[in-house]
Amino acid sequence: MVDHSNNNLMVLGADMTGPGACLSELPVFKFRYEAMVSPLPPNRTIEMVGLHLEAKPDPSPSVLVLNIGALKEPNCPEDHRVYMPTGKAAFHRMGFYSNVDASFRPKFSRGTSDRVSLYVERAYPEGGKPDADEISAYSRTVIQELQDWGWVRNVDVMDPTWIEVAHTWSWADSQWKQQAIASLEAHDIYPVGRYARWVFQGIADSVRDGLMAGATVTSLQWRSAEEVHPRQKRSQGTV
Ligand SMILES: Cc1cc2nc3c(=O)[nH]c(=O)nc-3n(C[C@H](O)[C@H](O)[C@H](O)COP(=O)(O)OP(=O)(O)OC[C@H]3O[C@@H](n4cnc5c(N)ncnc54)[C@H](O)[C@@H]3O)c2cc1C
Repeated sequence: MVDHSNNNLMVLGADMTGPGACLSELPVFKFRYEAMVSPLPPNRTIEMVGLHLEAKPDPSPSVLVLNIGALKEPNCPEDHRVYMPTGKAAFHRMGFYSNVDASFRPKFSRGTSDRVSLYVERAYPEGGKPDADEISAYSRTVIQELQDWGWVRNVDVMDPTWIEVAHTWSWADSQWKQQAIASLEAHDIYPVGRYARWVFQGIADSVRDGLMAGATVTSLQWRSAEEVHPRQKRSQGTV
């Protein structure tokens, strides 16, 4: 939370006590900042900071990424990426880490090339996160489909990753992005990176943004930082 009326005071609640901790007992940190660099997507930052915009937020579908390590079958493509407009499991894109570089395979299989490491991406509308059972069922369908195609045999490892804001779209004539960025910058919060600036760019451009932001940040000074423990927090009524 940022208190703009109080000279850019940021208040953070931090879970230092592990799962099951009571929210009201969490330590609270207060920072006064000159400027803040944020890589978060502006729809989240705007919400966290408590700002209000006139424009309707632009849409941002989520993506479930299944990372898979498996025994390779002869039909497995040599491509880096493959797009799938149709299919039983309804994923839209796959990529093959180990076709980019052999180091993505386990050490023991780098000489034999009998393993493949790949990712499978499926898009979801905002707020449409599947539960654990749905992810398990979907994962089984994906593996079955890849086996049916003769791309993989046994699966060694599989790990699902949920990316809440994965794609950044804009409504026709939308002014939301411009309003969001201008509004954050007016509060000395500078959005940096692919999601924060709501642009389409790859990893290389994002690394460049990070290096530039890092060089700028070294010239900033944190004016003060203090920790307020739950007991003090309640008596001071900070959160
Ligand atoms: C599925 C997928 C596949 C991609 N494949 C490629 C590819 O093959 N090649 C390529 O060049 N680029 C690819 N990209 C794009 C690439 O990932 C991005 O350009 C790059 O990672 C963006 O870096 P960044 O530092 O700007 O943002 P990020 O690395 O996304 O940093 C933003 C950070 O903010 C954090 N964050 C977000 N919301 C919150 C919140 N509410 N609270 C706290 N923290 C939050 C996130 O956890 C993250 O750590 C892909 C992107 C996706 C989603």
